[in-house]
Amino acid sequence: MKIAILPGDGIGPEIVEQARRVLEVLRGEGLPIETESAPMGGAGYDAARDPLPPATLRLAEQADAVLLGAVGGPQYDVLPRELRPEQGLLRIRRALSLFANLRPALLYPELAAASTLKTEVVSGLDLMIIRELTGDIYFGQPRGRRKSAAGDDEGFDTMHYSVAEVQRIARVGFETARRRGRRLCSVDKANVLDTSILWRETVSALAGEYPDVALSHMYVDNAAMQLVRNPKQFDVIVTGNLFGDILSDEASMLAGSIGMLPSASLDARQKGLYEPIHGSAPDIAGQDRANPLATILSLAMMFRYTFGRADVADRIEGAVRRVLAQGHRTGDLAMPGERAIGTRAMGDAVVAALRGG
Ligand code: NAD
Repeated sequence: MKIAILPGDGIGPEIVEQARRVLEVLRGEGLPIETESAPMGGAGYDAARDPLPPATLRLAEQADAVLLGAVGGPQYDVLPRELRPEQGLLRIRRALSLFANLRPALLYPELAAASTLKTEVVSGLDLMIIRELTGDIYFGQPRGRRKSAAGDDEGFDTMHYSVAEVQRIARVGFETARRRGRRLCSVDKANVLDTSILWRETVSALAGEYPDVALSHMYVDNAAMQLVRNPKQFDVIVTGNLFGDILSDEASMLAGSIGMLPSASLDARQKGLYEPIHGSAPDIAGQDRANPLATILSLAMMFRYTFGRADVADRIEGAVRRVLAQGHRTGDLAMPGERAIGTRAMGDAVVAALRGG
């Protein structure tokens, strides 16, 4: 289990350190875990004038899985676009051919009050959004600016999906549903877009291979509405890059704090890059105030998806659940009047829970 660790910037090193301590516990129990760290993002720029230094990319390519903290910071905003931290992120996703982005939105009952939605709507929420990451209107050609026939300036992009691209992501959807509640909802805009008609036909054609999974289809505008009306109706949602970008951000708000949500980006062989969905939080960096749980839960996803060790994933998730049940809260989770603990103390609590269970 070779894991490349890329702490990144801002709170990245602090939160990744707590995940590293979880790995230490597991290694101590005999799991064959090897880790190596490298700079990326602003730290990559500082070290090698490159947000994804060649040595970092090599390490990521040679590893079985990558754990990333977060990248970015105001001091790098003045750099030319190709040197900005976020470019490192886009480049590593492309270099590793990570086409499937998995984002669970899970609300622990203990945190239901932290959501902006009513407790009964979100308590116990557990859904997974699978977003295609390398196609669609974000990459379709042609795109650009031109003069219209009337002499007006106009911008244009091309929405595009091939059958093979849809099949590849749809299979991730079916397989994931199979490991969860066996319900897959494919989201598109097939009432308007040709790309979506092809998407829907292609997903439907695969359904016969997964008779144990109940497939449904939903238009994206309705899906956006249903996510806030009754999000617990969903098990797994699979959708394209553009719709997934928007719906996954919407779903993340259902779960209360951004500090709780992990993500995985996978290639065709289940190699993955695992990271919390939040950014580098420069406003609280270096103050021992960041919530490390999204990063620790990203590690759980790594064991589930790349290493095929659902038992280890369950244990890590169980440890997180226990520390929340015990009442431990970082500042982002604490309700008025509740005592908040720091990043390291939260790491201590998870390590203790893991050792105890
Ligand atoms: P952000 O997610 O970093 O922060 C938004 C708010 O949430 C802040 O108030 C922050 O303090 C809080 N927050 C975030 N993570 C937290 C945690 N673990 N615990 C407690 N509070 C947390 O988003 P932003 O402020 O828009 O962006 C800051 C920087 O991060 C920018 O440079 C941006 O480009 C970058 N960014 C990186 C990624 C990534 O690495 N994947 C994603 C988003 C933003």
